[in-house]
Amino acid sequence: MTVSTATIPSATKGRILVIGATGFMGQFVTKASLAFEHPTYLLVRPGHITPSKALLVKSFQDKGATLIHGVVNDKDQMEKILKENEIEIVISLVGGGNLLDQITLIEAMKSVKTIKRFLPSEFGHDVDRADPVEPGLTMYKEKRVIRRMVEESGIPFTNICCNSIAAWPYHDNCHPSKLPPPIDQFQIYGDGNIKAYFVDGDDIGRLTIKAVHDVRTLNKNVHFRPSVNCYSINELASLWEKKIGRTIPRVTLSEDDLLAAAAENCIPESVVASFTHDIFINGCQVNFSTNSPNDVEIGTLYPDEKFRCLEDCFEDFVPMIRDKILGGSDNNEIAKTNNKSLPEAVPII
Ligand code: NDP
Repeated sequence: MTVSTATIPSATKGRILVIGATGFMGQFVTKASLAFEHPTYLLVRPGHITPSKALLVKSFQDKGATLIHGVVNDKDQMEKILKENEIEIVISLVGGGNLLDQITLIEAMKSVKTIKRFLPSEFGHDVDRADPVEPGLTMYKEKRVIRRMVEESGIPFTNICCNSIAAWPYHDNCHPSKLPPPIDQFQIYGDGNIKAYFVDGDDIGRLTIKAVHDVRTLNKNVHFRPSVNCYSINELASLWEKKIGRTIPRVTLSEDDLLAAAAENCIPESVVASFTHDIFINGCQVNFSTNSPNDVEIGTLYPDEKFRCLEDCFEDFVPMIRDKILGGSDNNEIAKTNNKSLPEAVPII
């Protein structure tokens, strides 16, 4: 990632503690914090380090991050860490199963009284507006509990509502950007025409770090709604077909199919199914305006900041499928020779 650090004066480069730096979303935020040359501290749980996480942490340390071993749900330990390292900004990216661990963190931040900004583990939808069925609803109820606690605590906060990560929105995968879009069959949710916003992980990280010391984001929900990356799943499918130069059969996954996948209550797949239903059936990313005083749009705050376009993001997936689909040949050749029309969507039985 190339980040111009000139846009943040050094006086505002506060000391940032990232909780969950080894996680899926945490990596993007940590990368950006280091790129912006913030003094960056990483809270990493002892005993949870796999070889790949150790390598990741080492790469962050090589770029200047300070490693702190600890858990967020130990109040005394957290108070000590916040005080000793003079932390000013806390960004939490704990995963969906650990959201309530943040309660202790909030208590610790309240005690030390020195935190200038807290970003709770949101990084998705506006949880006060979104309306997923269970089991996603339980996760949102927990995020709402944390929101209310933070509001009552008086700790300055910013909620990042970055919508979907730029990738194919599989209804059964929490971290879809690790997988290429389908090459055998598209599952089209409902009529496939409800739009959603897709944001590259590095853009989420970079704009999150810009927002942490912006007075305009104080005690606000910051919405990521890049108009260049507002796509329906039908449009997403066409984009991928164009990219790889072949047509792929489409089947319909109806509202009832998604609700049934959610009702199976397999965790985490059913949680993702309930969010998929909320996005592509209810339209939870696009069915409200951000005009209230508690909301601000990232594009309005930073009109000169460019979002990486989805077409470009999809380019990253081409090498992953090249051998399977293109037999190692150049995809433009395939694009030239394979120009079939789209098959009709058929329902899944
Ligand atoms: P992950 O499960 O990938 O990572 C969670 C991180 O939090 C890990 O580094 C984990 O550490 C750390 N952690 C968990 N509990 C504690 C604790 N008690 N003390 C210290 N560290 C802890 O989470 P995700 O990246 O998937 O989720 C982060 C946020 O992003 C969530 O709010 C989620 O809803 C959201 N999200 C949004 C997406 C989108 O498309 N917009 C996609 C995915 C997530 P350890 O390594 O020790 O386990």
